[in-house]
Amino acid sequence: MRKKEVSALLIGRFQPFHLGHLEVVKAIAKECDRLIVGIGSAQLSHTFENPFTAGERHLMISRALTDEGLHNFFLVPIVDINRYAVWVAHVSSLVPPFDAVYSNNPLTRRLFIEAGYEVRMAPMFNRDEYSGSEVRRRIVEGGKWEMLVPRGVVETIHEVKGDERLQEIMKDNAPEATI
Ligand code: NAD
Repeated sequence: MRKKEVSALLIGRFQPFHLGHLEVVKAIAKECDRLIVGIGSAQLSHTFENPFTAGERHLMISRALTDEGLHNFFLVPIVDINRYAVWVAHVSSLVPPFDAVYSNNPLTRRLFIEAGYEVRMAPMFNRDEYSGSEVRRRIVEGGKWEMLVPRGVVETIHEVKGDERLQEIMKDNAPEATI
């Protein structure tokens, strides 16, 4: 019989996946056998807050995890349903079974706790720099952002011209746009 594996679910938008996210993944890998990454707000792309498509985020994360020597993972895009009361059931219907959820997002935590799941917090790593909004801000302003994300994410953003996309979105919508 197959040995029971302990599975963890990590949910985020990963816009983009950065080194803080990678540290969380590495911490989870020490505690759990299998990682499920829920790529949240999968329907969103081409905006300041959510510039990358679910497919692009899928590629970034799979490259980053594989480069880290991690292989026992599933990546599952999850479209928002904006009905908080049934969101956990929606997520659970899309991902493989899991034993614990890792999130620091207060709403995500609250919804999983209310649904009876074990919810764990990962420590925040260098939050001033390792944040999606900081990476996007630097890309838009032409600053150095590459050291804030794993190599596979740099490659993916360059391949899809994600830096140009963000700069154009910002230009087209200034001054109302916020990063
Ligand atoms: P995110 O990419 O900002 O963060 C993902 C996780 O990584 C979070 O737990 C965050 O705290 C953690 N993190 C970020 N930077 C870190 C760092 N430097 N060190 C350590 N940890 C760090 O994503 P998010 O905004 O939390 O994503 C939540 C997703 O869940 C969204 O897509 C949201 O739409 C979705 N959601 C949807 C509903 C609904 O549709 N009803 C309800 C709740 C949540």
